[in-house]
Amino acid sequence: MDTTCYRGRMAPSPTGYLHLGHARTFWVAQQRARQNAGALIFRNEDLDSARCKKDFVTAMYEDLRWFGLEWSEGPDRGGACSPYSQSERYAFYRTAFEKLRAGGFVYPCFCSRRDVLRSLQAPHQGEDEPIYPGTCRERFHFLTASPEEQNAKDPRFSWRFRVNDGETISFLDKNFGSQKFVAGKDFGDFVIWRHDNIPAYQLAVVADDIEMKISEVVRGADLLLSTAR
Ligand code: GLU
Repeated sequence: MDTTCYRGRMAPSPTGYLHLGHARTFWVAQQRARQNAGALIFRNEDLDSARCKKDFVTAMYEDLRWFGLEWSEGPDRGGACSPYSQSERYAFYRTAFEKLRAGGFVYPCFCSRRDVLRSLQAPHQGEDEPIYPGTCRERFHFLTASPEEQNAKDPRFSWRFRVNDGETISFLDKNFGSQKFVAGKDFGDFVIWRHDNIPAYQLAVVADDIEMKISEVVRGADLLLSTAR
């Protein structure tokens, strides 16, 4: 795999039928890959097994092809970064999570909040979680057991990434220009591993983009804040 070339991606979640917003985003992703003589990778973001249905997966392929989209790597085509369905990539997420846990970047959270339940999905328009008040942040920072060990004792907790309060996260969005978000103000500690041992969207999407050597992310504007996360 040539890692110096442009690598873009299309990353739909088959939790429903694709809509015009997907068509627009993926069309731009394809244009960008073509302009840069690069590769377009298709990733099936089917992490949320309860909401991802077989019919939606079938329709997703049909619709993307009908719309004229073409990809060079994907679940149906294979490639150097196989597998391309998130439901088959647990080992990658687990490795990424263990790195964060070993580095002390995460802590167990016993709060049963809506954002924990929603964490498998990308937070689109109007779905961004409220800033986490930090209830479990200091109380449980000393826990070092693995999720399995902890869950055997108490199956109710998830793992949150601890943001560096006050830190400015900046990046260049080629559509909206220079972006700046302040940790602790614009977004708070977020769930990266769920109580039922499933990685959250925020961890999976980044682990995959790194592992698949994605050089540019084209996504809906409502995911700008997730880019900062
Ligand atoms: N799979 C996510 C969704 O369809 C978006 C992924 C991303 O671009 O980060 O909502």
